[in-house]
Amino acid sequence: MIIVYNFINKKIETIPHCADYYFNSMINNKKESFLLKSQKSSSSIPVSKTSDLETTNKNILIEPTPEVSTKAPYSGQFECETGNYHTFCPISCVSWLYQKIEDSFFLVIGTKTCGYFLQNALGVMIFAEPRYAMAELEESDISAQLNDYKELKRLCLQIKQDRNPSVIVWIGTCTTEIIKMDLEGMAPKLEADIGIPIVVARANGLDYAFTQGEDTVLAAMAQKCPERLKNINVSSPELLDPQNSSNNSINGVQKNEVQKKELVLFGSLPSTIANQLQFELKRQGINVSGWLPSARYSDLPALDENVYVCGINPFLSRTATSLMRRRKCKLISAPFPIGPDGTRAWVEKICNVFGIVPTGLEEREKTIWTNLADSINFIKGKSVFFMGDNLLEISLARFLIRCGMTVYEIGIPYMDKRFQAGELALLEKTCIEMKVPFPRIVEKPDNYYQIQRIKELKPDLVITGMAHANPLEARGIVTKWSVELTFAQIHGFTNAKDLIDLISKPLYRKQHLEKHDSLNKTFAL
Ligand code: SF4
Repeated sequence: MIIVYNFINKKIETIPHCADYYFNSMINNKKESFLLKSQKSSSSIPVSKTSDLETTNKNILIEPTPEVSTKAPYSGQFECETGNYHTFCPISCVSWLYQKIEDSFFLVIGTKTCGYFLQNALGVMIFAEPRYAMAELEESDISAQLNDYKELKRLCLQIKQDRNPSVIVWIGTCTTEIIKMDLEGMAPKLEADIGIPIVVARANGLDYAFTQGEDTVLAAMAQKCPERLKNINVSSPELLDPQNSSNNSINGVQKNEVQKKELVLFGSLPSTIANQLQFELKRQGINVSGWLPSARYSDLPALDENVYVCGINPFLSRTATSLMRRRKCKLISAPFPIGPDGTRAWVEKICNVFGIVPTGLEEREKTIWTNLADSINFIKGKSVFFMGDNLLEISLARFLIRCGMTVYEIGIPYMDKRFQAGELALLEKTCIEMKVPFPRIVEKPDNYYQIQRIKELKPDLVITGMAHANPLEARGIVTKWSVELTFAQIHGFTNAKDLIDLISKPLYRKQHLEKHDSLNKTFAL
C-alpha cells in the first residue's frame, strides 16, 4: 500500500467519450418500447416495505408529520425501474467534508482508478496540500501478501507525523468491498495504537449514490459523538439569563420547557448557511445545541434519548437511522430547508415539535416570493425533467413547481420514503395548491427509457449528471448539471434567488443562441 498525498493535475479524457459511447449505444441498440417496460415495472410501493428507517424497536421515536402518518406519503405515480446508480462516485464527498471538518484527515483506501477519479473530480492543485490522501492498494495488498493492519498502521503513523489530525476518516471503496478488507475490525485496535480516533465509512460506487458518501461518513461519525452528560451544551444566553428578557415565555411557551429539549442538526453546510438556518430557529426561540458534522472533531454534539435531531438534506437517511437506532435520538421528520416554502415548513415543523407557535414566518415567505417575482417570471410555464443524480430531486422539484414550472418526471437514484415523508407531503400539497398534476417519481431510473421519455415530452430543461449532459446538449436538449445544485448554496430563505438563477442560466443561454441563429439567417438572406 502506498500513500499518495497530492494528485498531479493531469487531464484524463476518458469520461466524456465513455458517456457519449454509452449514450449512442443506448439510443441505437435497445429496441423494446420504453412505455411497455415502464408499465411492467410500475408499482406502488407501500412505505412500510421499503423504508430503511422502519424498526420494531419501541424506544425509537420519529416525530410524525400529521399529514403522512396515516397514509402513503405521496399519491402520485411511484415507480422503481431497478436500473443502476448512474451517478458520480460517492468517494467525492471527501472534497467538501475535509473542508467542513477542519481538523480531520480523510484516507481513501482504493486503487488507481479511485485516485484518477478524485484527481479529475476534485481538480486538486499540487500545492494545495489537502487534508486527504489515497492509500493506493497494490498487487501485493490485493493478493494478501502484505498484512493490511501493518500497512494501514504505517500510513496512519505517517499521517499523524505529517499533519497530526484530530480524527482520521477511512473511506472504503469498491476494492475494499470486493476483497472484503475488514476496516471496521482493524480501526478500534489501530486507533488505540496510534492515539487518534478513526472513523470508518463505506462510500463505494457499488452501493451508494453520489451524495450518499456524506451520509455514510456522518452515520459512522454519529457513533463517535459523546454521551450527553459528558458534554453539557449551554443554551443561548438570552434563554438562560433572566435579566436578558422581560418575561419567561417564548411565543407562549415557558422557557424552561424549551430549554429542556436539545436540538442537533445534521448535514454538512457552509458555515454562512448553517448560521442563517440557526438564526431562523433562534428567531423562534429555539437554540441549536450542535451540528453533525461540527467544524472541529472535539465539538461533536452530545447525544442521547432526550436529543431531537433534524436533517437539512434529503440524502441523509442512514445518518438518521444511526442517530435513532444507535444513539436513541428523536428524529424530527420535516421537509428540507430548500426554497422559501421548504424553509418555512422546516422551521414550522421544528417549532411544532418544540411546542412553539411560530411567528412571522408566513410574512417572511411572502416577502421572499414577492422579491423573486421577476426571476420567477422567466421560468414560469417552462418544463423540467430530472434524470436523477444527487437525491435532492424531490425538494428541487417541489420548489420549481411552486415557481410555476411543470415537472414531468423526478428521477432519483435512491428513495427512503419514510425519511422523505415530510418532503413528499409538501410536494403533494404544493401540486394541489398550484393545481398541477403530481409528477411521477422514478427510483433507480433506467436511462434508456428516460431518454425515450425526454424525446417524447420535449422538456425545456433536463437536470442530469455530468455523463449525460454533453450527449444531450449535442442533441439539442438543454441541460443543467445536477452537481452544480449539490455544491451551490441553496438552503434557507435568502438563497432562493441563487437557485432560480442556476435553473435560468441554461434557458437564457438557449434563448440567446436562438436569437443569434435567427440574426445569422437574416444576414445570410
Ligand atoms: S470507489 Fe469504485 S466507483 Fe468509486 S472511483 Fe473507486 S472504483 Fe470507481
